[in-house]
Amino acid sequence: MIKRSFFSLTQPRLKYDLLEADPKAPESIPIPPNLILLLNEALDNTKSIILKKGDKVKKGEKLSLYKDSTEYTISPVSGVINVIDTYSDDFGNKATYLVVRNDPQQASGEDIVKYELTDDIEVADQYLRTLPGAPPLKILASKENTIQTLVIMCTDQDILSTTAQYVAQSTMEEIKEGVRVLKRIANIMKMCLVVSQDTNMQTEFDGIQTFRVSKNYPSALPAMIMKDHLNMILPAGQSPEDVGVAFITAEAIVSIAKAYRTKTATYEKVLTVIGKDGQRHMIKATIGTPLRRIFNAFSLHINEKDRLIIGGPMKGFATYTHHHPVLPDMDTVIIQDRDLIPALSDNACINCGKCIKICPANIPVNLLVRLLEADQYEEAFDKFDLGSCIECGLCAYVCLARIPLYQYIRLGKHEFLKLKADA
Ligand code: SF4
Ligand code: SF4
Repeated sequence: MIKRSFFSLTQPRLKYDLLEADPKAPESIPIPPNLILLLNEALDNTKSIILKKGDKVKKGEKLSLYKDSTEYTISPVSGVINVIDTYSDDFGNKATYLVVRNDPQQASGEDIVKYELTDDIEVADQYLRTLPGAPPLKILASKENTIQTLVIMCTDQDILSTTAQYVAQSTMEEIKEGVRVLKRIANIMKMCLVVSQDTNMQTEFDGIQTFRVSKNYPSALPAMIMKDHLNMILPAGQSPEDVGVAFITAEAIVSIAKAYRTKTATYEKVLTVIGKDGQRHMIKATIGTPLRRIFNAFSLHINEKDRLIIGGPMKGFATYTHHHPVLPDMDTVIIQDRDLIPALSDNACINCGKCIKICPANIPVNLLVRLLEADQYEEAFDKFDLGSCIECGLCAYVCLARIPLYQYIRLGKHEFLKLKADA
């Protein structure tokens, strides 16, 4: 395996967007009549499913497919399960979606589930994993990796989004409360906070160290923060948790604080929605709300062949349906006009070298992609550093031949992991 220096001479060209000085409060989207909840577990005909169509559910109830499931979702409303069906993600991975019909009549005080939250990270993981911000409780509670450093992200990872900055700026007291809860329930040696170098946010508290990241993309990606501020190079093919580091969003830490205070879950996710005209809308929507409800609320029209991107322009992925629900970790949604979608091509590489120059992980992307195009994933990993890619998307952004490099790389990593698991 090639070991390359993580450092490069690249001058990043893209800047993160800064939250405006006096941001408007997010607009709340009403709870829709039907919510779509994703469960990270596939339907298996050989097992007996404990949920069925027509089941009544309570607000806050934990929903799992099987008795022995470790995956779950939490219902944000009291109502009835209307649909249970298979969901496929962009790599064809199977999961399950539930449609819960909201029944406000059913949501009396007794119908809201309260949790017995003790000062134990495993207990927190049993109830709070799917809260807004998707707290990484599974990682923190894992017996396999000991997390020594927790990094609280008050910056957005992709350009155009200001969700994380807004949440951090408007809920700093609750972030402090969440930090105190986590100190109590988890054995984490070090916690630090990441903010933009241009923010005025007051972040000095409880001995938490603050890292100020540059506004140049991709300085706020986990691997870059580890390199620039923790002095750690993420080894090829490993994740931060493999080396004892976990990342948590400001929103997730606020969700934990609220849950420990009220013994109930919260469901309202803050999102940056960017329309075709580039206008940014900050909204709050209940987890499970179909995106089309948000678009309708802002009169954002989607025409055939317009592209719907979940996530930012560099790291996001396109979805094929405007029924896609708001998810706990969804920070940004972009509608891209069909006339503005850059054409991708199957042109051959012209060896311009731009991808190599811009890659922060110093990967020979032009050579790597040749192996990926030929489905040679193991060779791509061993010979051309597939595992060192930090998934910033810059190579695809600069490619003169318009080769979908980032998509090839993501697919290549996915296929490589599948091969490894099969082996
Ligand atoms: S996405 Fe491209 S530019 Fe970014 S680290 Fe991976 S190979 Fe390098
Ligand atoms: S940027 Fe595109 S065309 Fe240029 S060397 Fe890299 S893969 Fe080839």
